[in-house]
Amino acid sequence: MSDQFKGIEPMVYNSKINVPYSWWAGDTASKFYITLRDEKKIMGTKCTACNKVFLPPRKVCPSCFTENTQWVNISDEGTVITFTVARRQFAAIPNDRKVPVIWGMIKLDGADTAMLHYLDEIKPENVTIGMRVKAVFSEGRKGTIRDISHFKPVK
Ligand SMILES: [Zn+2]
Repeated sequence: MSDQFKGIEPMVYNSKINVPYSWWAGDTASKFYITLRDEKKIMGTKCTACNKVFLPPRKVCPSCFTENTQWVNISDEGTVITFTVARRQFAAIPNDRKVPVIWGMIKLDGADTAMLHYLDEIKPENVTIGMRVKAVFSEGRKGTIRDISHFKPVK
């Protein structure tokens, strides 16, 4: 620090920046989102070489790097692999979500990978690893991952 700043109290200014952007989702993600929006179906890709099923779908198998993948239907039910609870509102939580917000890593039946999404219709203290959950689709679907509103416990 140079002498000219000696004696000046260091200040921290907290703010937010908003950076709008858009990009082409690509043919694989486009098919995934359109099918989710129009048919309320969750689709993944299966590698024909190593047989792993990826959700979200991948154009190239991240395990063996082949492009030999095929589309497969994934169940809308699965298992909670892990979860976390946010008890304070912060910027990453959309305005339509109120705390406590529960995020779960959910491995849907038929997939070898897990996806991150909201768990709802359950109190945080009642969520357990290994519990069975089912997708609840949004009413006004727009072709985003939020076309799945959340996952709820299977009764
Ligand atoms: Zn593979």
